[in-house]
Amino acid sequence: MSKILRVDMTNLKVVVEASPPEYERLGGRGLTARILNRELLPTCHPLGKHNKIIFAPGLLDGSRFPSSGRLSVGFKSPLTGGIKESNVGGTSGQKLGRLGIKAVILEGQPDDTELHIIKVTKDGAAILPADNLTGLTNYAVVKELRAIHGENVGVLTIGPPGERKASMASVACTDMDGMPSRQLARGGAGAVMGSKRIKAIVIDDTRTKPIAAKRAKAFRELVTEYTKFLDESKGANLVRAYGQMGGLVWISDRNHSLPVRNFTSGMFEGASKIGGKEAIGYLTSQGSQWSIPCMPGCLQRCSNIVRDKEGNYVTSGLEFETAALLGANLGIDDIYAIAAMSRLDDDYGLDDIEMGVTLGVAVDAGIMNLGDSTRAIALINEIGQGTTLGRILGEGAAVTARAFGISRVPVIKGQAIPAHDPRVENGTGVTYCTSAMSDHTAGAVLFRQPTPAEAVKASKQVQINVAMVDSLGLCYIAFTERAYPMEKVTEIVNTQCGLDLSYEDMQEMGKTVLKEERVFNLKAGFAPSADRLPEFFKEEPSPPSDFIFDVPDSEIDSFWDF
Ligand code: SF4
Repeated sequence: MSKILRVDMTNLKVVVEASPPEYERLGGRGLTARILNRELLPTCHPLGKHNKIIFAPGLLDGSRFPSSGRLSVGFKSPLTGGIKESNVGGTSGQKLGRLGIKAVILEGQPDDTELHIIKVTKDGAAILPADNLTGLTNYAVVKELRAIHGENVGVLTIGPPGERKASMASVACTDMDGMPSRQLARGGAGAVMGSKRIKAIVIDDTRTKPIAAKRAKAFRELVTEYTKFLDESKGANLVRAYGQMGGLVWISDRNHSLPVRNFTSGMFEGASKIGGKEAIGYLTSQGSQWSIPCMPGCLQRCSNIVRDKEGNYVTSGLEFETAALLGANLGIDDIYAIAAMSRLDDDYGLDDIEMGVTLGVAVDAGIMNLGDSTRAIALINEIGQGTTLGRILGEGAAVTARAFGISRVPVIKGQAIPAHDPRVENGTGVTYCTSAMSDHTAGAVLFRQPTPAEAVKASKQVQINVAMVDSLGLCYIAFTERAYPMEKVTEIVNTQCGLDLSYEDMQEMGKTVLKEERVFNLKAGFAPSADRLPEFFKEEPSPPSDFIFDVPDSEIDSFWDF
């Protein structure tokens, strides 16, 4: 029987509830959207006692299907003021799935400021004191908790900015080596967890085993088929060899859609130093490793472990977005400096994307110069340590711009725009506009579409597909971006769960997720004007393509005709 753990932080009580039948076919992003719509007043304050933060494994988490096991977090975002879902690899999603836990709902707020740990086991959950962890950064927290609770636990943790409820605070998740390098990064999940006075969640799945497929033979055949598909896919093999960072030079030099120097250009002269084969070849020659899975059983293996020139571990999961926004967007072409910045972000618990865009705004504000990685690192430390300037920057790009009177701000719905310039990638731009998430990850990357109508159509289809895979706990990089047939994904669900869903049922599931997210935002006070990119994307051509974002407002609004 699957269950829901409801953690009441006002009264410091945990209640284990049977998961209601209506949640049976829901997981991950779809489940968090449903619960938030059911249980939350959309106008509540994101950092107040009425907000909730929900951790939900995908429907396939805990199964043996490759590249499944992602964990979703859903909450009302302090950055956007709307609904937010973020998902992550690591080990915690699979552990919650194996424990038969549909969702962990954190609600309420204690009267005092003491911090707590939630420990989840086969027997339920307990709230433990955590004041000895106050002020510790994520790597130190995980070291302490693994020493006490064992090396095999999964840990979700926040750093000092999360404790202070900074809007760019993430929740860090441990990877297969126990490093808190995977981030539930977007939207300020760490701030909401901090507002509940929860420093960490420890997940112990001792004495559990993978959930057997209901139709084992057909399931095994699908595993074989998917494995063969990836092995024979040119795109999958390129991503396996070079990761997401491998495409950075192409995106800069051929597609011209890289954010460069605070979104003033789409092409970076230092691209080959921070991404692509040359940079990765250099890093691996110095001891870094590529083709690493971020969660057990991922066959796409797009991740990495970065070591410095002395062979010391720096970070794992140095991603395209990180290199683009902490590198090109700040005019920085030193890959080791970028890795050091990303390590600091992981350790403090901060979102790399929000950081890169915020520091771009800081350049316009005269707080740092382009290309100055020493100053960038100093500013990240200010955010981590909570100085006055750090507290402003820690609220993200939109607030920083307001504080310094900057009007050219690459944000949508209050959140930093990721590393695909929407002037060139107009389909991705439509996704930024229409998704309640305001993220390209809500729809996978869409390169330039020939017409605005086609940009809307393409965005709609990938958003439906991604909402579906996000609800199943599958990684969109290993499925949607590889164009793995959604009909096959339907078969995977049916054989694992013993269901008889059709492809149309699954598409309907994706559409329902998008609509529920939109309903939440409308009730929270969002108007269609929230679905608009900042003016400069429509007015300033991005060299060298010289494109502007050309999808008319009426076309964007037609997205919702389904
Ligand atoms: S494809 Fe990459 S990001 Fe996705 S689960 Fe695998 S290693 Fe992690």
